[in-house]
Amino acid sequence: MRVKKPHSADGWQQARAEFRAARRPLALTGAGISVESGIPDFRGDHGLWRRFEPEQYATLEVFRREPHKAWEMYRALGEVLQGKQPNPAHRALARLEREGRLQAVITQNIDGLHQLAGSRRVVEVHGEYRHLQCLRCGRMRPLREEDYAPPAVPACHDCGAPLKPNVVLFGEWVRHMDEVGPLLESCDALLVIGTSAEVYPVADLPRQVIGNGGRVFEFNVEETTLTSLADYSFRGPCGRTLPRFVA
Ligand code: NAD
Repeated sequence: MRVKKPHSADGWQQARAEFRAARRPLALTGAGISVESGIPDFRGDHGLWRRFEPEQYATLEVFRREPHKAWEMYRALGEVLQGKQPNPAHRALARLEREGRLQAVITQNIDGLHQLAGSRRVVEVHGEYRHLQCLRCGRMRPLREEDYAPPAVPACHDCGAPLKPNVVLFGEWVRHMDEVGPLLESCDALLVIGTSAEVYPVADLPRQVIGNGGRVFEFNVEETTLTSLADYSFRGPCGRTLPRFVA
């Protein structure tokens, strides 16, 4: 049985010792790490998917067919992200990297809070919300305040096509898997923070580390499909559990 729950002080110590011994440690983060920064995860009661059905708003097909409709969701998302700051969990990961105890953060988040906290190697597999991209000619430019002004859809300066935020929609490929592959291959300790581990292909990554004999440390407020497979599962808000683990 691999699961060792850190119920006792000894459990915490043992988990820390195993993480310290790792030579190629990584972190994998999801929406949950930003919840304490005021950005709800999409599935929760206050999440975006309650207002915008993903199949109706967040697919590549919808964007191509009805960019105005997709931009209703992007504007709501922009409002949620605006002005948000990193929390102690983001800062704990930045600190680990600074101290040479973490190689990189692989994140499903698009909010840029890892970089704001000081993390340097951040692999954003679902894209990011700081730029707009043109699907026709490939041009990319920074997102500007006026892009939120309804009802117009921002258009590409070069070819006139509607621009979309540089985030991965349903129906698009995830990004940077060529960078993620080698990182995962050699990873011997993976911190999995605030993700339901249900969105593929990222959900496979912890299982890959386990398959290679690496350790998995999960931080989540609730049980997930990964919990029974993880070596350690820290239950509670990661803004509290992660800094305690790293201390
Ligand atoms: P998800 O599937 O990654 O689930 C969020 C997980 O976080 C859940 O398991 C939940 O129990 C956990 N969680 C919530 N609060 C937590 C806390 N304080 N501490 C620890 N764990 C906590 O995310 P989703 O909401 O289904 O989103 C799917 C995708 O949508 C993401 O992978 C991402 O691409 C995008 N998204 C991004 C952001 C962001 O950039 N901040 C926010 C929401 C969604």
